[in-house]
Amino acid sequence: MTGELELLRDQAEAELGKAGSEEEIQAIRTRYLGRKGLLTGLLRNIAHVAPEDRPGFGKECNELKEAISSKVDQVLDRLVSSQREQAILREQIDVTLPGRAVRQGRLHPVTQIRDEICRIFAGLGFSVVEGPEIELDYYNFEALNIPKDHPARDMQDTFYVEDNIVLRTHTSPVQVRIMEKTRPPVRILSPGRVYRRDSDVSHTPMFHQIEGLLVDRGVSFGDLKGVLTVFLRQMFGDDTALRFRPSFFPFTEPSAEVDIRCVMCSGRGCRVCGQSGWLEILGSGMVDPEVFKNVGYDPEEFTGFAFGLGLERIAMLKFGISDIRLFFENDLRFLEQF
Ligand SMILES: [Zn+2]
Repeated sequence: MTGELELLRDQAEAELGKAGSEEEIQAIRTRYLGRKGLLTGLLRNIAHVAPEDRPGFGKECNELKEAISSKVDQVLDRLVSSQREQAILREQIDVTLPGRAVRQGRLHPVTQIRDEICRIFAGLGFSVVEGPEIELDYYNFEALNIPKDHPARDMQDTFYVEDNIVLRTHTSPVQVRIMEKTRPPVRILSPGRVYRRDSDVSHTPMFHQIEGLLVDRGVSFGDLKGVLTVFLRQMFGDDTALRFRPSFFPFTEPSAEVDIRCVMCSGRGCRVCGQSGWLEILGSGMVDPEVFKNVGYDPEEFTGFAFGLGLERIAMLKFGISDIRLFFENDLRFLEQF
């Protein structure tokens, strides 16, 4: 065999030795034996071989062609049968293997807090109601005693859908919708998403509020204090100290913000409570007579109180979380801790 042919044979064998897939093996067959292949190329050059050597050269070329071809078939066979063996091995079932544990889901911490608050108020006779998140300006503002030019509108950076339609900035419009349809007594709790243009460690553009409303004959500020005290002690512990601070909301009069003794430092002063020893928990007040007039209740006959709180804030305090944005990142490493 001439040197050139020997070289070609060695090269083909080396390549076949390294080929690991059917595609690679078929590519080698084409590269050597195809119509434009290396061996075919050599045969075309037979004109350059001395006439007396031509029969020998042709014979050797044909032998080499046979050799490479059968080698390719051989390697291909081996590959196919080893793949089949592996497939059989893979399909074997080891009945002694332990089962895979099913990953257990958990309720989101904000959902847990919502459920806990609803449970406490259910015990006090409140029922849960819901309202739309895309709300008319009338229900979000006007009916709650916040007219167009009222400065309170600036306090709540509002997302407007249209001139007259907003993403609700609080859950309070649900009060109005329920009172329009119901005669007192009313005892409702309305949890849900609210939206404001705000974003930092303690604000997100969407967060959750829960709103409570109680209306009946003879409801006093004492009832408000009583109900909220029962609620906050069940939520944060029997020895939780509370204080009521005068405040302002357009839809309640008088209004009060409620603080609890800081759950982080027990009142000694820390970073969470801004060294004051107190944490602001919720806003509340006696429903403003103007709101009653808007829904057709006689303020001489009925009185009531309302309160609202942010669920994320409660969850942050209960679970010791410092950044509100963690609630909305859907990071399992965070969520699985609750
Ligand atoms: Zn503190």
